[in-house]
Amino acid sequence: MVAEVDGPTLAISDSRVTDVGGLPVHRSLPKREQRMVGAWCFLDRFGPIAVSPSRTMTVGPHPHMGLHTVTWLLEGQVLHSDSLGNAQPIRPGQLNLMTAGHGIAHAEDARSEPAGNMDGVQLWVAQPDATRHDPPSFAHHAELPVVDLGNGKGTVLLGEFDGSRSPAHVDSPLVGVEIAGSGIMELPLDPAFEYGLAVLHGGVRMDEADAAPNHFVYLGVSRSAIVIELADAARLLLLGGQPFAEEIIMWWNFVARDRAELESAYADWAGAQPRFGQVASTLQRIDAPRPYWSR
Ligand code: MN
Repeated sequence: MVAEVDGPTLAISDSRVTDVGGLPVHRSLPKREQRMVGAWCFLDRFGPIAVSPSRTMTVGPHPHMGLHTVTWLLEGQVLHSDSLGNAQPIRPGQLNLMTAGHGIAHAEDARSEPAGNMDGVQLWVAQPDATRHDPPSFAHHAELPVVDLGNGKGTVLLGEFDGSRSPAHVDSPLVGVEIAGSGIMELPLDPAFEYGLAVLHGGVRMDEADAAPNHFVYLGVSRSAIVIELADAARLLLLGGQPFAEEIIMWWNFVARDRAELESAYADWAGAQPRFGQVASTLQRIDAPRPYWSR
């Protein structure tokens, strides 16, 4: 759905709690009232939660198409394995960026992590029509640019922020920054982008409104900066991008343009077709639910 956005706004919404891989997650995107911010179309926050090797995140092999997955940890460690043969542990401060294109499968397994805490986010970015049929790829970025914001810092996950550009590849104009700090700071913004803020820890006050952990603050477009006040060692994600001009359909782990594409992805995964490949994982493969409209 292409959103109607014509200026700055401020709308605070709560996330909803669901279950992924045995752990509760807070989902901020998509929601009925907020389907996308730029090309950002999915945001799950898992944790903070105490984990042990017998009770931790285990997401068995499953497919994706038409999107990038963006994984960012605040605590803990997760092993990413995919059908291209990558086996990449990710730790806090690092970025995993998986590009699904025409099709890929992966598993996420935190069982090798000793008892501790798990906290992180997984986001999806919709690929534009120009690249969504391309072959899949995977990149791990251990070093990301950090900008000084006076009372805090911003780590640039994707895109460009305050003159610093992430080395991670993007298919459309967008930005993702983790903001951490305490006190007042001004964030430079691109007036052509729409923005949202996801609160992970602490609190944030802007335009006389307060947001708490797992709140999502939609900011609209046409802002060249925003002044925010962070409290209690806050950590936020700033997400932005050019309003996505293409109408997408999301179903299960797929982003498409029509139901026929989703049905063919379902059939290819159900039939273990080579399209999505094989993942070397001891976790059980996850079956796709049958598309509800074709039951
Ligand atoms: Mn996945």
